[in-house]
Amino acid sequence: MKSLSEFALAIQPSSTMAIDAMFKQMKAEGQDVIGFGAGEPDFPTPDHIKEAGIQAIQNNDTRYTPSVGTVELRKAICQRLKADCGLDYDFKEIAVSNGAKTCVYVALRALVNPGDEVILPAPYWVSYIELIRMVGGVPVVIDTTEAEQFKITPEKLSAAITPKTKCMILNNPCNPTGMMYSRKELEAIAKVCVDNDLYVLSDEIYYSLTYDNEQFTSLAALGEDIKARTLLINGVSKSYAMTGWRIGYIAAPANITKVVGNYLGHCTGSPSAISQKAALAALTAPQDQVETMRQAFEERRDYMVRRMNQIEGISCIKPEGAFYVMMNVEKVVGKELFGQVIHSDDDFASLFLKYGKVAVVPGGGFGAPNFIRWSYAASMDNIKAGLDRLEMFLQGKA
Ligand code: PLP
Repeated sequence: MKSLSEFALAIQPSSTMAIDAMFKQMKAEGQDVIGFGAGEPDFPTPDHIKEAGIQAIQNNDTRYTPSVGTVELRKAICQRLKADCGLDYDFKEIAVSNGAKTCVYVALRALVNPGDEVILPAPYWVSYIELIRMVGGVPVVIDTTEAEQFKITPEKLSAAITPKTKCMILNNPCNPTGMMYSRKELEAIAKVCVDNDLYVLSDEIYYSLTYDNEQFTSLAALGEDIKARTLLINGVSKSYAMTGWRIGYIAAPANITKVVGNYLGHCTGSPSAISQKAALAALTAPQDQVETMRQAFEERRDYMVRRMNQIEGISCIKPEGAFYVMMNVEKVVGKELFGQVIHSDDDFASLFLKYGKVAVVPGGGFGAPNFIRWSYAASMDNIKAGLDRLEMFLQGKA
């Protein structure tokens, strides 16, 4: 038989899957394991949003919609972007699709020719690097350190640009680091992008989850020059606990959303009509439940960060947004625990699951070796128990 597509065969499975498979198997066996791998809010979708989905079914809003989503939803997205980020978009500049993940893919499709370079700051969300490859792009990774707060500088960005650079991906606030760029930092990055004629795919899906009263700035809000080259990615998954509804969107100049629409028209048809009605309710109703969830995340973050920095051998910096903490395990790598030498973050995560009965995600897949990602989208009780287990594990006690 002829071989499968070279493009498809080159795609790597998610690095988190091995741990996740083991976690699920242990759970199925009835073992008392706690998971901190999830990239989704643990809250249920708020009732008024669920109700809108049920209503959509009952009202027979169950047909195809335009490939880029209904006009009413796109208008509601414009209003939310204006209210929350001070952005002015026309509904024709919005393309809705099946989650922000599809939006990242189709945005890259709209920009990247085979061989074009796409700049990607590390640590990065695992899917970006594969999505770049899936469109024939070449990822150019810019490493950052914990001491740099995992943020790129304009100098580092300039140094990574070549004549083949088409765009960069900026994720703010960032999964997995939780770090957020200030307005000043963004201005410096935006200037480099404008000066070098780069597009920016600005993934702002965690924008409503920021802490310590820090003000979030959308890249596109910095001026017309940068807005004209920004493909803003956002969605309802994280802000409204709607991961399973699969609604995300791109906000970008109309010539880009038109290309995106043509592409989507042939491959997804349209996003779910029912989910669009639910997303409409999410975006247009009072936003107090977003704030309630945000406060709960902030409380959990504070607890997790405080505890982690009290435990001998590991540490973390304080994230400013999203719901992840990057735990530094540099000092543990090379040490022996439970009769085994820990050579890497992968080893750490495997042993912690086996002996500590806690599932966390090794940093390697995010381009962050010697780090472990914890999600605090978990109950406070589980967070407390997980950190108790971490303390025991590091003392070699199961
Ligand atoms: N972008 C980032 C940075 C994410 O962390 C995620 C989900 O984990 C997504 C996009 C995808 O979100 P969606 O559920 O809307 O596809």
